[in-house]
Amino acid sequence: MEFEIWMLLGIPFFFGLGWIAARVDISELVSESRSLPRGYFKGLNYLLNDQPDKAIDSFIEIVKLDPESADMHFALGNLFRRRGETERAIRVHQNLLARPDLPSEQKAHAQYELGMDYLKAGLLDRAEETFNLLVDTPFEVQARRALLEIYQREKEWRRAIDVAVGLQESGAGARQKEIAQFYCELAQDALVHLQPSDAMQLLDKALQADRSSVRATILSGDAQLAQGDTEAAIMTWRRVEHQSVPHVALVAQRLMDGYRKVGRPQEGVNLLRSYLAEASSIDLIEVVFKAVIELDGVEAAKQLVIEELRRNPTLLGLDKLLEARLMDAPAHVWEELSMVKNLVQRYTQKLARYQCSHCGFKARQFYWQCPGCSRWETYPPRRTEELNVMN
Ligand SMILES: [Zn+2]
Repeated sequence: MEFEIWMLLGIPFFFGLGWIAARVDISELVSESRSLPRGYFKGLNYLLNDQPDKAIDSFIEIVKLDPESADMHFALGNLFRRRGETERAIRVHQNLLARPDLPSEQKAHAQYELGMDYLKAGLLDRAEETFNLLVDTPFEVQARRALLEIYQREKEWRRAIDVAVGLQESGAGARQKEIAQFYCELAQDALVHLQPSDAMQLLDKALQADRSSVRATILSGDAQLAQGDTEAAIMTWRRVEHQSVPHVALVAQRLMDGYRKVGRPQEGVNLLRSYLAEASSIDLIEVVFKAVIELDGVEAAKQLVIEELRRNPTLLGLDKLLEARLMDAPAHVWEELSMVKNLVQRYTQKLARYQCSHCGFKARQFYWQCPGCSRWETYPPRRTEELNVMN
């Protein structure tokens, strides 16, 4: 197309159209905002300035003047809940629900918010009841997520499994890892109650949900041991190596005890030393160290720790070396060495912790579910100092 002068005329024409459109939008916005109560902007302003108390007062004013405004009730209710004033949040949402003219979607919304209030207040039974009313509403998936949280808090693992499977089937995200963990919880209960064959069945289900579940493998070995089959237990625990090398530290003691029980402790030491060569770990050294002292003597154990310390210089490793040195130290150095060891140990106690990779919660003990943030499998099986060295 050739350029012609008259085409230039189009530019002011379209510019004019845009100007008119903008004017129309702005005047609409102005008329809409005029219809909003003044307290709304005041409340908003307080919220933006981090003054939730004053914001609440403004919103309460509006709700008094205009009891029909459901959105304002929701805003107010959420504010109360966030500030921990759950009783007031509950009242706001109950008032909303009591309205006979409330459209069904808003009714479901209010029901959901009421459930969240109960949850926050720790009234789990009422929360559960409320969320269960939300089947076949637009809030069904959110309600099921909340139910999943409730059942975990109550340790109702079977119900948690049902809800997680339902969520997964409805396309609301993968839940295999959690489902396997719930079966593991049930299996652990069965083991505590000396029912290893029940535990075994539950662990099969755990592994069906998640083939890579290290916990299910470890517990399967525990169940076999409880059934009296140590050889099978050893073979099962050895599978952890193929699932995750760092996690072998968690079965090291079990493997060593198992090999001792079947009368082949040297085989156990050799296996654990081969693990150690693959991935250094202070927990693994701890087990191997004790076993080597028992089988090959203090000198061999000292050599093992020195080698490890060269490869991976950590305070935790140094602590082990001092322990070995103290075992056959002559009397005149014993006291000094012991002092150094105590000093080192004061530091290592802080370093010998596991740490949640999600919320940072530290614990002496290894957890499959973080006590801080309740997430599953967020603890790497290494002590914090080792993690720092690796990073
Ligand atoms: Zn955490």
